[in-house]
Amino acid sequence: MHTCARNLLRSLSVIGSLFIISLSVQAKLVETPYGAVSHPFKLHQVPGKPVYYLVGESGVPGANNEGHTSNAGFVVTDEGVVVYDALGTPALGYRMIQRIREVTDKPIKKVIVGHYHADHIYGLQAFEQHAGDPEVIAHKLALGYVGGSRVSQGEAGQRRLKQRREVLFPWVDENTYLVPPDTTFEKEYNFKMGGLTFNVLHLGPAHAPGDSILLVKELGVLFSGDVIYKGRIPFLDSPETDINNWLKGLDYLANLKPAPSFIIPGHGDAETDVASALLYTKEYIEYVINAMKAGLKDLSSFQETYNNTDWSKYENMPAFKASNRGNAYRIYLELEPTFF
Ligand SMILES: [Zn+2]
Repeated sequence: MHTCARNLLRSLSVIGSLFIISLSVQAKLVETPYGAVSHPFKLHQVPGKPVYYLVGESGVPGANNEGHTSNAGFVVTDEGVVVYDALGTPALGYRMIQRIREVTDKPIKKVIVGHYHADHIYGLQAFEQHAGDPEVIAHKLALGYVGGSRVSQGEAGQRRLKQRREVLFPWVDENTYLVPPDTTFEKEYNFKMGGLTFNVLHLGPAHAPGDSILLVKELGVLFSGDVIYKGRIPFLDSPETDINNWLKGLDYLANLKPAPSFIIPGHGDAETDVASALLYTKEYIEYVINAMKAGLKDLSSFQETYNNTDWSKYENMPAFKASNRGNAYRIYLELEPTFF
């Protein structure tokens, strides 16, 4: 055969097999009691440490990402497993339990909830039903979201659940329910397990009223929840967001001694440059505040202020389109009364 034709045939067969591989990757469905999921669900490990995590996709929860938009992780000790956050559907929570079981058969003892927002908590149901119902720990302000009993819960929590039953069906359906915390705390919640010190600290209200981080001192690992964002625009546009307290919390984290060496944020990739991750969130919030202040000083409308602001530093970041304008408007409204 002609070399040319042979090469052509060879490349066609390569393309063909790639096509088959990509089809089989896409089609690989994993059954769970809460619907089948196809997300590859890669488990990452903090190098050399018994700490593992999953990284969600950027974007809003929907069928394309199967609701996997947030991160979650776990720490394995000799006495048991401590989980931080539980992902955005019971099916993903179930997949997470499967991943934990690939690493260890130790009991799953505690689940720390960084904050009660839908993308981080619907997986709790799977832990309750399929992982021995571990103790769920959250800050007491979480009760505003999840409060009451299973039939009568906080209004915000119920409204969001209704929306997710539509956009995340079949993974979130009429059988999905919110799991309230078993234990709540006021300022911090500390415990030892398997020789490790776990420090759960309330840093909110920041992104949400109950924002709590988990620090594992001996390992230098920080689960920051949505207090720290890196590589994407933070979400500030909620009536629950408390910008000033958020900035205070970031300063607190910046002054931790010894400084953690590994951050697993609520969204986006994990980060070893802790100082720069902290700085990114802080600089973004301060940038928006200063831009809105400048407009208010000139008696400019929000529209003018927004249009006159140079967003070039941030406009190519993920979630810019979805969040930046709302963030700016939220801050403009918050600052407005202090100017007039
Ligand atoms: Zn989140």
